Amino acid sequence: MTQDSTRRRDELAAHLATVRERIASSCRDVGRDAGEVTLVVVTKFFPASDVRLLAGLGVTDVGENRHPEAEAKAAECADLGLRWHFIGGLQSNKAAAVASYADVVESLDRPKLVGPLSRGAQARGQEVDVLLQVSLDPPGADHRSGAAPDDLAALADRVQEADLLRLRGLMAVAPLGEDPAEAFARLASIRDRLLRDHPDASMLSAGMSGDLEAAVAQGATHVRVGSAVLGPRPAVQ
Ligand SMILES: *Cc1c(COP(=O)(O)O)cnc(C)c1O
Repeated sequence: MTQDSTRRRDELAAHLATVRERIASSCRDVGRDAGEVTLVVVTKFFPASDVRLLAGLGVTDVGENRHPEAEAKAAECADLGLRWHFIGGLQSNKAAAVASYADVVESLDRPKLVGPLSRGAQARGQEVDVLLQVSLDPPGADHRSGAAPDDLAALADRVQEADLLRLRGLMAVAPLGEDPAEAFARLASIRDRLLRDHPDASMLSAGMSGDLEAAVAQGATHVRVGSAVLGPRPAVQ
């Protein structure tokens, strides 16, 4: 290893230790087992060399939000045995391509995406796990990403009927300007409702660098953490 990559590895290792301790301590606070929460490290904007270092540090799940970047990194890191989570906005003309490398598509938010995702999974010859992204915006706000809670039941049924898509649960992002504890409490009740009809859809992807504790308290099974592990991203988006 070069000196630079040794330094980067040590930095990532220190950040990872801090994040893992935050997860463990928030689990302890609410009487959950830390093994119930999977850390998905969001590597968007960072190079494949970082993904490789993270895999060496025990990371098993990585998240990406933009199709061409995700596809290239997944190909470059194909030997690492990682689970790739697609967490970004999906375009219907890209959805089939995303299903060719993503193991978990977390951002299905409208019926139009079901067909292309299913076709992509069929072309790959492999089942793809799907989470429905639900909007936690207050009622009345326009839902910029995520299905409205009232539309989830129909969307879940569509996924369930599709070949090679496996409905696994929900994903959400806490809206800006609201206490994440309140937003994630709403999410927990939305999830309870979904679980009545879809008892296998028990994954809950919620919580990021700034609010993972609040998400763990409300039952998150997956937290998506970027900057707390990799450092600040270049200012884009
Ligand atoms: C970028 C991103 C994250 C990670 O955000 P951080 O604040 O850097 O931890 C999580 N979820 C989604 C959907 C993202 O786009």
